[in-house]
Amino acid sequence: MNADYDVIIIGGGPAGLTAGLYCGRARMKTLLLEKATAGGQAATTDAIENYPGFPEGIGGFELTEKMKQQALHFGAEIQEIKEVSSLEVEDGLKLVKVDATAISARSVIIATGAEPKTLDIPGVAEFRGKGVSYCATCDGAFYRDKVVAVIGGGNSAVEEALFLTKFASKVYIVHRRDELRADKILRERVAESGKVEIVWDAHLKKILGKGKVEEMVVENKNTHDRTSYQIDGVFFYIGSVPNTEFCEGVVDLDEREFIRTDESLQTNVPGVYAAGDCRANLLKQVAVAVGEGALAAVEAEKYVEENFD
Ligand code: NAP
Repeated sequence: MNADYDVIIIGGGPAGLTAGLYCGRARMKTLLLEKATAGGQAATTDAIENYPGFPEGIGGFELTEKMKQQALHFGAEIQEIKEVSSLEVEDGLKLVKVDATAISARSVIIATGAEPKTLDIPGVAEFRGKGVSYCATCDGAFYRDKVVAVIGGGNSAVEEALFLTKFASKVYIVHRRDELRADKILRERVAESGKVEIVWDAHLKKILGKGKVEEMVVENKNTHDRTSYQIDGVFFYIGSVPNTEFCEGVVDLDEREFIRTDESLQTNVPGVYAAGDCRANLLKQVAVAVGEGALAAVEAEKYVEENFD
């Protein structure tokens, strides 16, 4: 059956780029579509310390740029600023729609990652880009000698709060419980930093200011007392939602809209695989995404060999 490509990889983060490298190296005709620029969320991380091979850590942008070069080197075609709007399957052929054009492929690997979650409270939408941010690596340097708040208590919140201490005079972590979810090594660093104050059992209620962020109001979940803090910026790190809207109704999603797969990373649709943060997996890490990208690529290659001449 004729198709434009053997495989289309949707998403250019670590999972997609690794799939691109493996598919290219397997001499599959490979197209990788990325809605922004390749690298994904990992590219906006200042330093990645737990990806093997880099004992001193490596910048997220540098690491993903190397992954992109490696995929290109082995022949994957990468198209950036190409957002996929839908995925359809017709007689075993997969049709991926981009800018009103349908591109056909024998197999598809979905590696669309996830987007940061936000809070629907006053000030969040109004001050986006004026003190409300989702990327400390991108915006941290604007807060030299200023006071910022990080919302969340997971690895991202704590890592980024520590990164912000390089610039800010003070960093509040606003967390809804009395214990951080983040790994012990990060909790230890927070305790040693001297610049981070944790506001425990706290819900951010509103962000105020005249044209830019100037104040946050936080409510204690036990006493319901509200406290105001003078701040210059708020960074949200409260988890993420998967980018799976475009394939809703085609591939099976779990209750949080992550893609369900079998052990070979195949979805309910034969020849359609998922890898990385958009998949219902147990650990969101670059190392995991890379492994899943490799496995999805090898399985896609087998599928194409067995099902098409
Ligand atoms: P996460 O682990 O899901 O943590 C989200 C944090 O935000 C939690 O502390 C959660 O509170 C809080 N939260 C969620 N919804 C909230 C709401 N509506 N209001 C207030 N707070 C809310 O997300 P993540 O930190 O982005 O990490 C995602 C994944 O990537 C995790 O698996 C993480 O381990 C991994 N990661 C790893 C590293 C690393 O290894 N260095 C770095 C970054 C991310 P609760 O704790 O009360 O649930």
